[in-house]
Amino acid sequence: MKLKIAIQKSGRLYDDSISMLRECGIDLRNVKDRLKTESDNFPLEVFFLRDDDIPQYVEDAVADIGIVGENVLMEKDKSAEVVEQLGFGKCRLSLAVPRNMEFTDASSLQGKRIATSYPRLLGQYLQQKGIQAEIHEISGSVEIAPGIGLADAVADLVSSGGTLFMNGLKEVETIFASQAVLVRNRKLSEEKIQLLEKLLFRIRAVKKSKRNKYILLNAPNDKLHRILALLPGMKSPTILPLAESGWSSVHSVLSEDTFWDIIEQLKDAGAQGILVIPIEKMII
Ligand code: ATP
Ligand code: MG
Repeated sequence: MKLKIAIQKSGRLYDDSISMLRECGIDLRNVKDRLKTESDNFPLEVFFLRDDDIPQYVEDAVADIGIVGENVLMEKDKSAEVVEQLGFGKCRLSLAVPRNMEFTDASSLQGKRIATSYPRLLGQYLQQKGIQAEIHEISGSVEIAPGIGLADAVADLVSSGGTLFMNGLKEVETIFASQAVLVRNRKLSEEKIQLLEKLLFRIRAVKKSKRNKYILLNAPNDKLHRILALLPGMKSPTILPLAESGWSSVHSVLSEDTFWDIIEQLKDAGAQGILVIPIEKMII
């Protein structure tokens, strides 16, 4: 028995989905231009699909689990259940208008035509704001719609904003912030749930390791108390004596969010020879 996972066939989520599975220690060969493949060392079968179809396939149990953008999942309104946010594929569904259009708030869109590939999410947003506007659903190249006279504004996916800018548009409001998520069918068998748990355990260990760094430093023993006060560690920092008496080596784990702040404070507190090393997996 194998757990069946649906991932995007090609496109923005493909590389990160494959890398994440590989970092979970799952061997995948023959992943290019295939409909499906299997792993030799984990009971996983991978289906390659258009991202738009993944929520439906998971709802129908053609795939047990899938990797898809929250934007697509919410738009499709299927019963697939989110089990984990994956931290890649980050983008936002935003409203954008021509640079010369005056925009104060959502009410500036009253009576306007808005082009989007996300009619459901846009419709909900407009309804919440009490705005009547005409939604034009188009499946791609939404950003060109105002330029060719098809719409007055767009609701499109943005990450850097470069595409909007090149098309003479300005981003004015975020409707929905999105990232890739792992979804599951709601009625998996007990055995499949166990496989999913095993996979999730690995995914979480990989995610955690990416947010943390292993750090080693040397410190004179009389400064250790100040240095240790700055370091969290997984349980507590490790201290080993150096060959030179009066000195110690301190090992610890730092999270990305506080990393630079703490490094500076460590130097000020007398730490020397600080080494920072990536962590491959982190199991707590
Ligand atoms: P498919 O052929 O599978 O239907 P697609 O063209 O619909 O692909 P992509 O452009 O590859 O989709 O985007 C897939 C997902 O990547 C989006 O649904 C979104 O969740 C995420 N994403 C991240 N950044 C961006 C971005 N800047 N623009 C669009 N999508 C982004
Ligand atoms: Mg798509």
